[in-house]
Amino acid sequence: MSRLDQYLKGVRKAAIAGHMHPDGDCIGSTMGMYLYLRDNYPGIEADVYLEQPKPEFSYISGIDRVKTELSADVSYDILILTDISSPERIGVAGPLAEQMENIICFDHHVTNDSSYKWLFNEPQASSACEVIWKFMDEEKITKDCAEALYTGIAHDTGIFQYSNTSPETMRIAAKLMEKGIDHSKIINDSYYQKSYVENQVMGRALLESILMLNGKIIVSYVSRKTMQFYGIGPKDLDGIVAQLRNTKGVEVAIFLYETDTVTYKVSLRSKDFIDVSIVAAMFGGGGHKKAAGCTMHGTHLDVINNLVGELSRQF
Ligand code: AMP
Ligand code: MN
Ligand code: MN
Repeated sequence: MSRLDQYLKGVRKAAIAGHMHPDGDCIGSTMGMYLYLRDNYPGIEADVYLEQPKPEFSYISGIDRVKTELSADVSYDILILTDISSPERIGVAGPLAEQMENIICFDHHVTNDSSYKWLFNEPQASSACEVIWKFMDEEKITKDCAEALYTGIAHDTGIFQYSNTSPETMRIAAKLMEKGIDHSKIINDSYYQKSYVENQVMGRALLESILMLNGKIIVSYVSRKTMQFYGIGPKDLDGIVAQLRNTKGVEVAIFLYETDTVTYKVSLRSKDFIDVSIVAAMFGGGGHKKAAGCTMHGTHLDVINNLVGELSRQF
């Protein structure tokens, strides 16, 4: 019996949901949960609610069944949330969370302060996929499910590089590899491969980046005008902040893109000692010690000044 079983007793319909602007871990953990239910619980009908995932994730079985909208008349026995640090970030399934009581949340954000009926938040875990893996029966994880879970672990660890990668993470990844997945293809297709335009925009963001605080902070931003010029959306900007952080001597990388008039989505990354989740939380966001985000208002210069001001206090 898996640890998950006890929460699924009597459940006939389950909704599974991840956060806004879903990343690899969000997609991997929602789909991993969906595939685990599909493959082992024939009596449960499950729906996954997400914003449309990038086509790069199309190798994940069942991803074409993702629901990007909630219809008014649906009802579920349980809502399973994964990789969600706060109720405001639920996105598509937000209204469900407001009206349901049987909610189970699997997460790994240090800033998670939600109060669901069942909350399993492990800030030490690499990913939500790692957290949910521990609730599953190893033998019942199919190759399809393994592909989804491996995707999430690989993405949230920066392909097993970041400090959230533990020996346990590697053991779980190894067990998922033993299910016969094509790990090289998963990593290439969903993580490293970029379209020509994505590379161009990344190049431009790097070219226009500036160093601040004696080279300890690097900042770059992309305006809506630039995004329109290249015909791209927020999903095409993934990876820019990670590349900024790779800069020698830098402790914190800040990347912003304009989402609306004087509104910016902010991504923060640190290398060693700065806790960027504290700064993100100050501005209404959250995340992890070394990877956090928030949304801020003002001109890009206001936003950068405010962030650098708070960060310099931590240095
Ligand atoms: P991002 O920079 O968007 O890739 O996010 C980095 C980390 O911070 C992820 O784990 C996100 O879940 C978290 N995060 C990003 N934006 C927010 C926000 N507005 N509120 C809470 N957590 C966030
Ligand atoms: Mn995520
Ligand atoms: Mn995650």
